[in-house]
Amino acid sequence: MPQKFLVAGEWRSSDDVLDVHFSYDGSWVDSAYMASDRDLDDAIAAAQRGFAVSRRLPGHKRTEILQNLNRLMRENFDKLVDLMIMEGGKNRKTAVGEATRALQTIAVSAEEAHRIGGEVFSIDWTPAGENRQGFTKRMPIGTILCITPFNYPLNLACHKIGPAIATGNAFILKPAEKTPLSSVLLAELILEAGYPPEAFSMVNCWGAQAGEMVKDDRIAMISFTGSASVGWQIKANAGRKKVVLELGGNAGFIVHDDADMALAVREAATGGFANAGQNCISVQRMLVQADVYEEFADGFISAVKALKVGDPRDADTDIGPLINEREAQRVEAWVGEALAAGATLLHGGQRSGTFFQPTVLGQTQSEMRVNCEEVFAPVVTLRPYRDWDDAIAIINDSPYGLQAGVFTRDIKRIMDAWERIDVGGLMVNSASTFRVDHMPYGGIKASGLGREGVKYTIEDMTELRLMVMNLG
Ligand code: NAD
Repeated sequence: MPQKFLVAGEWRSSDDVLDVHFSYDGSWVDSAYMASDRDLDDAIAAAQRGFAVSRRLPGHKRTEILQNLNRLMRENFDKLVDLMIMEGGKNRKTAVGEATRALQTIAVSAEEAHRIGGEVFSIDWTPAGENRQGFTKRMPIGTILCITPFNYPLNLACHKIGPAIATGNAFILKPAEKTPLSSVLLAELILEAGYPPEAFSMVNCWGAQAGEMVKDDRIAMISFTGSASVGWQIKANAGRKKVVLELGGNAGFIVHDDADMALAVREAATGGFANAGQNCISVQRMLVQADVYEEFADGFISAVKALKVGDPRDADTDIGPLINEREAQRVEAWVGEALAAGATLLHGGQRSGTFFQPTVLGQTQSEMRVNCEEVFAPVVTLRPYRDWDDAIAIINDSPYGLQAGVFTRDIKRIMDAWERIDVGGLMVNSASTFRVDHMPYGGIKASGLGREGVKYTIEDMTELRLMVMNLG
């Protein structure tokens, strides 16, 4: 039986079935029913009723539900890991890391649920305000449509549903069609954790159907993580709804001549290739000061050669397959195009089915797609620079601005980079890939709008409501 979708506490099936294959070897894994337009309409209608219940849940109850969810996810940890490996070809190390972080995201949400409050403030700054007292409180806003991508299907769903439960909103989770399975188990666990059944649904469905939901005025907010092209299209169609967009990037990585070289090499080798580079903050464009370029390049390429490419189920595999063969072919074409235009191959460059070898390109130009677009694969470019200002200008020469990494021991350069590199987050002496789940996370330029990181999402999922009392 294919996996059902959940509409307001009811597990449903349909005539439309999606097959999921293991991208490592193409074998069939499972299948999932895809919701019809009618099911989606039911989910939105139920959420209106569910919100009337969820908005009245007291803080201790919302925390308790999130603590239950955290416990249930812990009990199902291995199942969640295995589902992510099989649905997305994610290597085990990364899947374990993701499931661990998802537990943390829900734990932080349980804590933050206690802290949603407001302010008491003076109104009597002018005579008109005498004998009056002002209060604000953050209130839930309604139904939140949570749309998630394939590359971190569990933790990125938790970044939406954790804050949605913490705030007492209703929500509809729409997982990526490439990874529909882990969300089915997650939905089961949310139901068991005790969130009011009408207040949430988990609907596997097609992107175009989600595009129609985006326009529905019964939805109060869209929380989207995915590609820039889809994200900005959603914003254009969202009307008066709140929209938070967590989109793509082509992260920069600067190694200056005073950097700790061994640290920079280690960070680059994990930051460029974790999850086979399918990471919005994956290290992509590496710039190394010319005087230390050879030293860094030698160490880095040795570290890349040591990465183990193979079966994602194995505990010691560093790099598994890409999500599908079409993506691997796209990357092959982009690398081929760069090589034809004068880039050099410092390592890798080969495709085999859904696998792309970890690849390092030298002598690339900014306008090559491996630099100016999001490569989303285990491919990095390595370029020397002479002056610090040139490095900053090259990093900023991008449509994206999510996170960047800078390696230097000079505090003045660090502060200068923080001010001048146009990103949502600068990591110092660390790859751009650093993230813990309570920090504000998100991008500028084409990389998105708004911040996630539980507390910040809670601000977006609530509205500040004012009350002024006349005590005269
Ligand atoms: P995608 O944009 O193809 O799909 C994301 C989700 O959008 C899926 O659920 C898909 O079904 C849905 N969708 C597709 N068309 C839609 C439409 N017209 N209206 C509404 N929803 C629609 O992205 P993907 O390939 O699953 O994920 C990879 C992308 O996500 C990369 O660009 C990556 O950088 C980005 N990403 C960003 C972050 C972040 O936090 N900034 C995190 C992970 C991934």
